[in-house]
Amino acid sequence: PTPNPNTPPHFRLPAMPSPVSRTIAVVGAGAAGLCAALELRREGHKVVVYERENQIGGTWAYTPEIETDPIGVDPSRNIVHSSLYASLRTNLPREVMGFRVYPFVASRKPGRDGRRFPGHGEVLEYLRDFAEEFRLRELVRFGSEVWHVGLMEDRKWMVRSRKRSGSEGNKDDEVYDAVVVCNGHYTEPRIAEIPGIEVWPGKQIHSHNYRVPDPFRDQIVVIIGGATSADDISRDISKVATEVHITSRSIEIGRLGKLSGHDNIWLHSMINSVHKDGKVAFQDGTQVRADVILHCTGYKYHFPFLETNGIVSVDDNRVGPLYKHIFPPALAPWLSFIGLPRKVVPFLLFEFQSKWIAGVLSGRIPLPSKEEMMRDTEAFSSSLEASGIPKGYTHRLDADQFEYDDWLAAKSGSPLTEEWRKKMYFAAGRMKRSMPEMYRDHWDDEDLISQAHEDFKTRST
Ligand code: FAD
Repeated sequence: PTPNPNTPPHFRLPAMPSPVSRTIAVVGAGAAGLCAALELRREGHKVVVYERENQIGGTWAYTPEIETDPIGVDPSRNIVHSSLYASLRTNLPREVMGFRVYPFVASRKPGRDGRRFPGHGEVLEYLRDFAEEFRLRELVRFGSEVWHVGLMEDRKWMVRSRKRSGSEGNKDDEVYDAVVVCNGHYTEPRIAEIPGIEVWPGKQIHSHNYRVPDPFRDQIVVIIGGATSADDISRDISKVATEVHITSRSIEIGRLGKLSGHDNIWLHSMINSVHKDGKVAFQDGTQVRADVILHCTGYKYHFPFLETNGIVSVDDNRVGPLYKHIFPPALAPWLSFIGLPRKVVPFLLFEFQSKWIAGVLSGRIPLPSKEEMMRDTEAFSSSLEASGIPKGYTHRLDADQFEYDDWLAAKSGSPLTEEWRKKMYFAAGRMKRSMPEMYRDHWDDEDLISQAHEDFKTRST
């Protein structure tokens, strides 16, 4: 019988022969940490996943809770991990988004969201199914926050964790051969610098703390940002706000002014300055008296627990030095990072990175010498500089992501990225740009969907 393409295939994963099994701590049980755990265990390593929360899913575990500091700059604020808003639907089609080892096909279970660009709850359910399928929960220590990862004299790693309740008796120190950092990078807000903001009387909030539009009812809101969150949140808020003004570097001059199809959304160039009478002045010469500025300006990489004696640092949002965005040459392969690249298909990239790390740690896949890795890293930085790409864009792969994925695939002996997936990714991007309101419910790549489902039937890695 022909397998039903809507039924998630059950993949049997034979353990690969492992030259050397290591003890490995993974920090975080989001999509990256779960994927790392699967691949590391498959390779024969002994894995412990530390997870601060009492559930898996990371970003995808939506919570209505927000932080005590709405712009997220106060270091003593309560930390809420997830940045999701209630109305969020994926910005990638599910065929593209899912892991290769466990395609994200519509589930037959009752109450599930079968849409091609589903709501966030469906992604969490999918990750739960994934963890269930591969028995990953048994590797996770829930409610365990890693507060220190430090190198010991014998080149091993001390991982110090505490139960979130914080009581003394709940602390735990353990030694590992290697640490894989999967703590996510959408929790520490980055704020726009605005001349005059000290005297401006309005409220500010970062999208990390945006959940629902209600608090913006009858308000005049300025939204800073040009990415998906700014697009989604401006539409969400425009249903209740008096006016929404979007300001971004990426808006072309020809598009400035009222956004077509909307009565109360305007597009502006960057903010020039803000003033004590509440005015926000834009570089295009227009100005509004606003109640709220909402920063949809992205996030900073943040590893408060990591102590590497200065070997790895975050400089202007570049984590470095890192060979292929993963290994610090001086500490390779004993410290690695999964999921740093931005503007990518995340789950796919996690799989490629995890396979490579697992194979390198067991000695099955060789790494170049530390000197060669360092030279490669420096050459990469110089090439960015020569092309005028700012440091903060170091991990932004965008159109280069599939070349990067396929480099990792070749190193690990995995099949390269499927042609249908690349085409579907670019097709979705085109649709998003041309129909930002409708791309999640209208598409024209039926042929690619069929190819994807054909592929899912036969996939076995
Ligand atoms: P996370 O999901 O953030 O998981 C990190 C985990 O580490 C968390 O569970 C956290 O509790 C844990 N942790 C952190 N610090 C510690 C510590 N010290 N000790 C123990 N545990 C710790 N991707 C898509 O593919 N499609 C989309 O449509 C999409 N939309 C997005 C929309 C928004 C608003 C955001 C913010 C992201 C979106 N993404 C999307 C990207 C998304 O982040 C990735 O899909 C993916 O969830 C990242 O997984 P991760 O495991 O790297 O990080």
